[in-house]
Amino acid sequence: MFSDKIINWYTENGRQLPWRDTDNPYYIWLSEIILQQTRIEQGRSYYERFVKEYPTVSHLAEASEEQVLKSWQGLGYYSRARNLHAAARHIAFDLDGMFPSTYEDILSLKGVGRYTAAAIASFAFGLPYPVIDGNVYRLIARLYRIYTPVGTSQAYNKFEQVLMQLIDRERPGIFNQAIMDFGSMQCKPLGCDCTNCIFRQECLAYRDGVVEELPIRPQSVKVKERYFYYFDIRWNVPRPTIVVQQRGEGDIWQGLYELPLYEVERPIGDSVLLERLGEVLRTWMGEAPRNLTVGPCLTHKLTHRTIKAQFVQAFFDCKPTKMLEKMRALELSELKSLPISRLIDRYLSEL
Ligand code: SF4
Repeated sequence: MFSDKIINWYTENGRQLPWRDTDNPYYIWLSEIILQQTRIEQGRSYYERFVKEYPTVSHLAEASEEQVLKSWQGLGYYSRARNLHAAARHIAFDLDGMFPSTYEDILSLKGVGRYTAAAIASFAFGLPYPVIDGNVYRLIARLYRIYTPVGTSQAYNKFEQVLMQLIDRERPGIFNQAIMDFGSMQCKPLGCDCTNCIFRQECLAYRDGVVEELPIRPQSVKVKERYFYYFDIRWNVPRPTIVVQQRGEGDIWQGLYELPLYEVERPIGDSVLLERLGEVLRTWMGEAPRNLTVGPCLTHKLTHRTIKAQFVQAFFDCKPTKMLEKMRALELSELKSLPISRLIDRYLSEL
């Protein structure tokens, strides 16, 4: 039987991961949110940090959003942290700290999609909902030679139907872990060792020689470029100071701090760069800096956006005559305690 075979394989070959030693839904939820769009190696240290800093859902709910964003710093996709915090508050304050225990109730939590709900429902509550991540799509597409492009809700429904026939109803959690590990470790995107695979007899893609054709990827999304000019504005009198501003609502970096930003539709030519940015700065600060120099240019890739960020360093003798309302002057040492975007963190680390 498929489930016995894959669970036996998992018992011998499965990965040891800290969130697999628990059936605490709060820890499982934390691990699943952290691991969305994050490699396991990187996710592990964040998981350990969150469990230590917020040992229960009430600890997470009682923390400020700024504190949670700071703990999340470096993981990217910050909406995950904001949703995690909002859902923790909902569980702690509206549900008396009781983690929801049905698939539908778990799915209704902010930031939880079908994959995450199935993972929590099966790992923590033993409910028979199959998980479908990229590794599972690949394995099932190959085993059954399915050509439906993956990653759409239509594909999810189709693969879920197949998996509902395969899932071990007595051991859904271990079945789900097994199928994800098998897809990741054995049925790899390229160069998988099919001759030594436990499913080589029944795998239709192997039989027909189309293993690397599958799964079919959805049409790739056009990536748009955005051009950011960040001003690193500082002065040293009476003490070393830097200017920051906080990202507003409705933004992927909402709540994070960054350097004052000037965004344009098209990149500014090198020959007029300092002149144009100098004018922007004079409008913002009411005067010209003593020094304005071009700093590093960093590229930051997101799923649908590539950000080209040019940094410019502006040095004033002391606090300028004015600042925009959203700007905040901080002592340099204070910056370390605030949540900042990965792009700004990279820039500051490069200095
Ligand atoms: S035979 Fe190859 S393609 Fe088929 S399940 Fe095994 S590793 Fe994947």
